[in-house]
Amino acid sequence: MNIMSRSELESVVTESVRQDMDRYFQQARSQYVGPWHIEEFEQHRTSPGFDQAQLVDCLQQLLADHGSAACIELMTQMCGRNVPFMIVAHELSHLRDLLIRLATGDGNMDAVRAIMALFDVLEDALARIYLAGFLGTLGQRNSIRLRHISALAEKNLLVHFEKHLDWLRQLTAAVSTRDRTAMPEAHHERCEFGKWLHGEGARLVRDRSHYTHLVEIHAAMHHVVDEIAGMIGRTSDSLPLYALMKKAENYSLDLGNEIAMLNSMVIMINYNKDPMTGALTRRSLERVMINQLEISRATETPFCVLMCDVDHFKEINDSHGHTVGDCAIVHFANALRGNLRQSDLMFRFGGDEFLLMLPSTSYQQGWEVAEKLRSAVGREVMPVGVKALTLRASFGLLEVCGSKTSFIDSELVNNLIQECDQRLYLAKHRGRDQVA
Ligand code: GH3
Ligand code: MG
Repeated sequence: MNIMSRSELESVVTESVRQDMDRYFQQARSQYVGPWHIEEFEQHRTSPGFDQAQLVDCLQQLLADHGSAACIELMTQMCGRNVPFMIVAHELSHLRDLLIRLATGDGNMDAVRAIMALFDVLEDALARIYLAGFLGTLGQRNSIRLRHISALAEKNLLVHFEKHLDWLRQLTAAVSTRDRTAMPEAHHERCEFGKWLHGEGARLVRDRSHYTHLVEIHAAMHHVVDEIAGMIGRTSDSLPLYALMKKAENYSLDLGNEIAMLNSMVIMINYNKDPMTGALTRRSLERVMINQLEISRATETPFCVLMCDVDHFKEINDSHGHTVGDCAIVHFANALRGNLRQSDLMFRFGGDEFLLMLPSTSYQQGWEVAEKLRSAVGREVMPVGVKALTLRASFGLLEVCGSKTSFIDSELVNNLIQECDQRLYLAKHRGRDQVA
């Protein structure tokens, strides 16, 4: 990308071009409507400090003074209010096109060139502000994640994610200071996480497709970081660096999600199980839930808790006896397990009630899982002597976001379980055999 520097811009914008541009800005001020009719921009329309006339004024000022403080101030405000870069860039290109149309209409090619140059400089200035804002918050988010994970009593696989976050912290610092020598290990098999992934991790993760996916995400992230390393220190690097850093963070979050799932698999293998159903026991629930909350916070991805309970189970005990009742509980547990991912966690909460933890799952996805389980339970009949028994069950669903909680402790875990239990109660109250 060849973006003009401010001094080059000065040479394009001669005094007469400046006067012409002033005129186009005046015309644009009355004609400019911005892209507000597009639905996704609608929510930012009323955002204070993001006013169309103000934007035109500000651009005009930039023309008069290429480092206009008012312009920088406005852009910083937008960045601080989380107006997405894409929206502001779109807005700018909309305005630029309008100005170019006006100048082209006059056959004023000098002004067209000057307008293009001005917007190049502006876009770069904007990207610089957004990049600085993004790196600042990424650095903060990262240290919060690291603090939480390092405080965990039992880290399991999180210890490797912790190393990855440390690597990301180094990357953020190096990009912030534009210091190529401070870049973390670039090779995806030689960084700390990579060493684990290609060593012990390769043996531990038995599921090949899962493993390959993990390796691919990690390698893709390092590939992006190679590009970042090549870019640091070049002039006008802000726009591509901003895009690349966002990409790297997205890969990093994907990596966290994969680790969250693997972590659950390790827990399912290593923790104590209820001998009757093979589900985890309630004893480890608090520990595991705290772990899940920390991962959710570190990866900024929600997970779901699903409480499920057989409808009118007492009647089975009463009419067929306790042994059949036991078989029904096992049958129910198997129906649930058979329809879950390997990385989902299943606890026997008590009697005929199970608690499921679904890592990296949104409410919508959780609802789909719950519906799938509900119909599977009703479909998979259980033979009792010559007859067949059909079970029905009710489900209470709760989405949990680790990043929206302040303290992660036993009290929070109890509150979440209670809340989920209330959802289950609601499903029962509404007539059973449903999700609430
Ligand atoms: P609801 O639809 O409201 O859930 O009605 P329900 O009859 O299923 O009521 P609830 O879930 O409260 O019933 C749980 C019963 O399960 C109470 C208890 O006697 C029985 N139970 C608990 N543990 C076991 C067990 O290990 N085996 C057997 N056979 N029964 C159990
Ligand atoms: Mg029940």
